[in-house]
Amino acid sequence: MRAADINPRYDVGVLNSIPIDSVVSRFAELKRKGARLVTKCIWHDDHDPSLVLYQNNQENHAYCFTCAKRYTPIDYVMQSTGLDFLGACAWMAREFNCGIIEGYVPRVYVPKILTANQSRPKDVIRYTYIPMEIVDGMVSCESSFVKCLMREFDPNRVEFLVDEYKLGCYEYSHEYYDDVVFPSIDEKGRVHNLKLQNYCTDVESEHFFHSRDKHFCWLGKILVEKGILPKDSVFDNDCMFGAHLLNKYPSDPVILVESPKNAIVGAAMFSDAVWIAAGNKGMLKYEVLKCLKGRDVMVYPDRDAIGEWTHVLSSAKMRALANFKVGSFCELFAPQGAAKYDIADYILSH
Ligand SMILES: [Zn+2]
Repeated sequence: MRAADINPRYDVGVLNSIPIDSVVSRFAELKRKGARLVTKCIWHDDHDPSLVLYQNNQENHAYCFTCAKRYTPIDYVMQSTGLDFLGACAWMAREFNCGIIEGYVPRVYVPKILTANQSRPKDVIRYTYIPMEIVDGMVSCESSFVKCLMREFDPNRVEFLVDEYKLGCYEYSHEYYDDVVFPSIDEKGRVHNLKLQNYCTDVESEHFFHSRDKHFCWLGKILVEKGILPKDSVFDNDCMFGAHLLNKYPSDPVILVESPKNAIVGAAMFSDAVWIAAGNKGMLKYEVLKCLKGRDVMVYPDRDAIGEWTHVLSSAKMRALANFKVGSFCELFAPQGAAKYDIADYILSH
């Protein structure tokens, strides 16, 4: 029996063609080893990463040399989550927004590990938005991020962008007094969450203008802990950074990138488009992108996301939504051997 016969709801071929690195990176950290990406195998006691990803025109799977086992994308999800075949297909279809046979409406799927009390269908959760007064009260040029920007770009342009994107400064975090606040404000002006991040401002350091990786958090939760927002507030992150500017500039082309830093650095350099950021690699969901309806959208993924983003945006549903064009800019200009490279890296090095 062919896989399609036992699974009339999901297109197994499409799900198994989701780039294996995108699938594995949802569960494990990938490292580059020579020409291949590798990670620690979770099915044996692995110290030296031995799960190798094979990803090219003919192959799209992971192989563990110790276990001598090969995993397709669906196999990998099944093994990593304990889901059965249909459960894994359902999870992948939703996570990567593809592979659902036309006409099939998937039921709301709740992972097995949740008990009845813990699982709340999304539509009964009442999400809270953060009051705009809080965001406006934080707008400032004092953050580490804006200090870095000021060194690289025209200060008048930077001040303009601080106001446009409502970039804030948060002084009360445990480690740094100058965290930048990146608000996610949707096209209706609702603030979904506030991302706190700190950037190295030491111009002598090789880390100048790079974020301190381990130090990033969501301010919504902190405001609840401090009693500023009600105790039962629940936030979602389903909103792109800069989405509130879409209605302000309805006829401008849009440039979509991964991180807020990329959007701001891009906007500092090129002012004739609306720059917005998905927030992270996995955020290209239809619900989040709906606000781009009918727009011309140039997409510049980070180097390590080009495959995944191209795949997600090539679905019929996405193509009907907006005119997405994915650029491989970051692949073309990345220095040899650099696994990570984004448009801000390019602009700041020129
Ligand atoms: Zn193994």
